[in-house]
Amino acid sequence: MSDAITPDDIFTCQKCGDCCRGYGGTFVADKDIQRISRYLNMDSSQFVAEFCQISGGKPVLTQGDNGYCIFWDRLCTIHPVKPQMCKKWPFIGSILADVNNWHIIAACCSGIRTDVPDRLIKECVKKKLSTCS
Ligand code: SF4
Ligand code: SF4
Repeated sequence: MSDAITPDDIFTCQKCGDCCRGYGGTFVADKDIQRISRYLNMDSSQFVAEFCQISGGKPVLTQGDNGYCIFWDRLCTIHPVKPQMCKKWPFIGSILADVNNWHIIAACCSGIRTDVPDRLIKECVKKKLSTCS
């Protein structure tokens, strides 16, 4: 496999929504809150009150009755402004510490390729994280 590998070479979202389901998964940072609030034409405090819960002292997106993120409706309804955590997924920092985390995540994400050398997986994670801030 070429060293010019890109994140798109080892991950293609299948849009199944499995990563948008379950409590407490999606942390929203202040910048996320500001961006999403503007997109929804509401102020930040209103956004937090309506669409967030506090978990471990931090705001996370709340769930709908169906167990999915409140913004999931067969696709992400805030896709252009979704939280950084969602934009980075599944390229997360803990993979750099232990590449086995890539393989663990792959067990519940059908878009992830695992037939790639660990060195190149880490390279893709670094590339992706450097483009998301
Ligand atoms: S679980 Fe993986 S393939 Fe499914 S929507 Fe999430 S990122 Fe995409
Ligand atoms: S914000 Fe969008 S991508 Fe992120 S968990 Fe919610 S529906 Fe999924």
